[in-house]
Amino acid sequence: MYKFAGVTTIVATKYFDTKDMRTLYELGYANFGENRVQNLLSKKQELSGLDIKWHLIGPLQTNKVKQIINEIDYLHTLDRISLAESIQKYANNPLNCFIQVNLTKEEQKNGILLENLDDFINEIRKYDKINVIGLMAMGKLDDDIMTDHVFAKLNELKQKYHLTATSMGMSHDYKIALKHGANFLRIGSAFKEIIKEHENGIIR
Ligand SMILES: *Cc1c(COP(=O)(O)O)cnc(C)c1O
Repeated sequence: MYKFAGVTTIVATKYFDTKDMRTLYELGYANFGENRVQNLLSKKQELSGLDIKWHLIGPLQTNKVKQIINEIDYLHTLDRISLAESIQKYANNPLNCFIQVNLTKEEQKNGILLENLDDFINEIRKYDKINVIGLMAMGKLDDDIMTDHVFAKLNELKQKYHLTATSMGMSHDYKIALKHGANFLRIGSAFKEIIKEHENGIIR
C-alpha cells in the first residue's frame, strides 16, 4: 500500500482523475503531487473540501508562479534564482521548497548541478518567502546502480546542509530511496493497481 512509518507518500496524480483521487483519499492518502499547474488548479477545485496537501512536482515556469504559488503546500522543483525571485514577489507566506538537484547529469533533466549547489543554497537564504526544507532528485531509469548512488548522495547532501527532508523515489525505485532514508516518496503508476483492486472490491 506504499505506506511507510515516518515517510510521506505523495501520490503523483498525473495518471488519475478526481474520482480516482477521491478513492485514494478514502484509502488514507492525503498528499497529492501534480506535474502541471493547470491540472493541479482544476483538480484542487474539484476536490475542495477534502483535507489535502498539494505538491507541485513538475517544472514551474516563471510566468505561472503568480497563479499557483499560493495554492500549494510544497514545491519540489526549485531550480533557479529567477524562480526564487518570482516566488518572493508573489507568495503571501513562506513556501516549503525542495531544491531539485541534477545528480545524473542528464542534459534533459532539470535541477542544479552538484558543483553549483553550494552557491545556490547560499543565495537562496536571502529570500524570506522561500523555506528550503530539502532536496529533490530523480534516479536514472533502468539503472539501479546509478540510482543507488544518486539517492545515497542526496541523503548525504541533506545532512551536509542541515536540511530536513529528501524527496526521492518513484514506482520503480522507491525501495532504493527508502534504503537511503527518503522522507517524501513520489509514487504514481504503482497506484493504478491499487485503484483497480479497489474497483474490484479487493481493497475496501
Ligand atoms: C510521474 C512522476 C512521478 C511518479 O512516477 P511513477 O513512475 O509513475 O511512480 C514522480 N515524480 C515526478 C516528478 C513525476 O513526474
